[in-house]
Amino acid sequence: MIVDSHVHLVTGGMVKAAKKKLDKDFPGVLDKSIKKGKGLINADFIKFLSTTSLENLADLWEKELLKNRVDKAGFLPITGARTGELDEFLSINPEKFYGYIFIDNIDNPSSKSAAQSVKKWSKNGRFKGIKLYPSLNRTSVADKRLYPLYEAAGETGTPVLIHFGISTAPAADYRYTNPLDLQLPSRLFPETKFIIAHFGAGFFRETLLLGFHSENIFIDTSGTNNWRLFLPEIMPLSQVFKRAIDVYGAERILFGTDTLLNGTSGYRDLVLKEQKKALSSIKTPKNEKDLIMGGNAQRLFRL
Ligand SMILES: [Zn+2]
Repeated sequence: MIVDSHVHLVTGGMVKAAKKKLDKDFPGVLDKSIKKGKGLINADFIKFLSTTSLENLADLWEKELLKNRVDKAGFLPITGARTGELDEFLSINPEKFYGYIFIDNIDNPSSKSAAQSVKKWSKNGRFKGIKLYPSLNRTSVADKRLYPLYEAAGETGTPVLIHFGISTAPAADYRYTNPLDLQLPSRLFPETKFIIAHFGAGFFRETLLLGFHSENIFIDTSGTNNWRLFLPEIMPLSQVFKRAIDVYGAERILFGTDTLLNGTSGYRDLVLKEQKKALSSIKTPKNEKDLIMGGNAQRLFRL
């Protein structure tokens, strides 16, 4: 079974909500960014979203997954303001889709309601994970105010996926983006499972260091992994996989593509192929490949 544990759902409503939040927090920043050609999303994408229903998106996703022989996909929204909309999308095809509760603007991770939100949404069986984005939340994952959230995550068996590292977001604050911030919480909450997205997106060394004496931290492989281009030395993807498996073991690595369907680009089959090739080139045994490509996600998210 292949499970893509990291893909994105973007809707017109989500874009609107994300813009509103950004304009409130950093007035004018988005306009400046758009002038430089770096808006949240481009005009064609906005047009596509304005003429596309959730049912259309679900259809499109089902076709793309089928075409690429991906059995299930874990969806991340781009804002926590539209969890209900994501839920509606997931309920169209619960056999293939599951989701992450994005804790950001409605329930900031440090707010008292964040843990409640996790308890509420994790009940319906469609939400299997939590997403945190510390550089956007401008809150370190080491902040004690997040402890009730980690406790709720452990109690409900809902792993916490975290985007550390580099980001294309117009107002990401890299002071909060080091995975080492996770070290103490991961020890204090041994029942809670944490997932570091994109191999740490540039903080690969720190991600590997976190593997020392840890059992509740996982890594996802999602995306193009172009963070490698911004390091003093560029590692081939196969080496990244090799070192991740050396330290974490194949049973704690989750395949993902970071696919986003925008009307023109389809499923990221190139990422799927590239990662399979990397695993073959380092002679990963079949049982370990199967774990990475889907077995681990099945176990972790109870799929
Ligand atoms: Zn992503």
